[in-house]
Amino acid sequence: MTADLLKASELHKVDPVFGQVSFDGHEQVVFCNDKDTGLKAIIGIHNTVLGPALGGTRMWNYTNEWEALNDVLRLSRGMSFKNSLSGLNLGGGKAVIIGDAKTQKTPELMTKFGQFVDSLSGKYITAEDVGMETKDMDIVREVTKHVAGISVEKGGSGNPSPVTAYGVFVGMKAAAKYKFGSDNLEGKKVLVQGIGHVGEVLVQHLTESGAIVTVTDINEERVHQIGAKYGAKIFTGADLYSADVDVYAPCALGATINDNTIHNIKASIIAGAANNQLANEAVHGKILKERGILYAPDFLINAGGVINVYSELVNWSREQVMQKTENIYNTALEIFKFADDNNITTHQAAFSMAQKRIDDTKNGLNK
Ligand code: NAD
Repeated sequence: MTADLLKASELHKVDPVFGQVSFDGHEQVVFCNDKDTGLKAIIGIHNTVLGPALGGTRMWNYTNEWEALNDVLRLSRGMSFKNSLSGLNLGGGKAVIIGDAKTQKTPELMTKFGQFVDSLSGKYITAEDVGMETKDMDIVREVTKHVAGISVEKGGSGNPSPVTAYGVFVGMKAAAKYKFGSDNLEGKKVLVQGIGHVGEVLVQHLTESGAIVTVTDINEERVHQIGAKYGAKIFTGADLYSADVDVYAPCALGATINDNTIHNIKASIIAGAANNQLANEAVHGKILKERGILYAPDFLINAGGVINVYSELVNWSREQVMQKTENIYNTALEIFKFADDNNITTHQAAFSMAQKRIDDTKNGLNK
């Protein structure tokens, strides 16, 4: 089943909750509401066959609540496959807090959110996502132990973004190896869309490896700052999707590969950090395949962060975290080959490998 991105305005046309395509068998969805702090949050627990559902909390100024619900369902479902494919003993979950992280995030709101997480008794473990910082998780930690991604000073693994960026970098190298015959990115033109926590570190790896990097972000100031810091070009054209590059790295928000953009893409490879890059997994995955564009599945190559976060729960060393993240390279090559051998999209290949581990565990085959 695919998780289409439905237009918020169309959501009421299907069965409001269980009928949504993105609902896709979620075990539990929790709506959290607190008048005093203004907290409105939704926690999605997609699947707990492999272990407790772990996934970050996103705080975003959604246009409406349907959009927030759709986002959390898509994201938590994605976490089931990400955690499975990465070999972690974790299920998939995610949370969204509706609001502007810059102006509406208060310690009281985060405390209340932590109490809601705690009320689930460990079925859901939270961490950071867009709009969240390690210091927010430190606040959550004060009221629940079911949180990861807390600061190093508080005994946690710290900001997961650099590890995510490293995983994206090795995933991109694997894609280059498969597509161009070499994983050397020197001289390759890479467009990084979104140069936040992950995008910046990716730009650093890329420039260090000799790639010709172009950056773009809705935050103008940041574009100039990062451009100058790493000697990256600044995208100035009208349509970034038709930019003449070898690799397009979506590192902002999801669904940038959609009906409006997909036919313009000139890059040979898409490899980035953003979750749910394909607006419609089946349709857009197939078009990319037909157009000969190698898509490195987002939930595979952006798994470095969750691997880092997981290390807090199982006491992995930094070396173990980096080794597991490095393994994204091999898994990516395996997926590209599996996709070609079976004439399916790379997304389908990654999805079926992830689903197989969940099914095998459910059926007692993974001892
Ligand atoms: P971030 O908020 O630090 O950075 C996102 C950047 O994208 C910001 O600079 C923002 O201005 C920019 N942006 C937003 N909309 C844009 C647009 N339309 N065009 C261009 N730029 C735009 O977030 P992050 O932590 O760097 O995460 C980036 C993406 O990677 C997100 O989709 C996130 O879910 C995903 N991801 C992050 C991690 C992690 O460890 N941080 C792990 C897995 C996946």
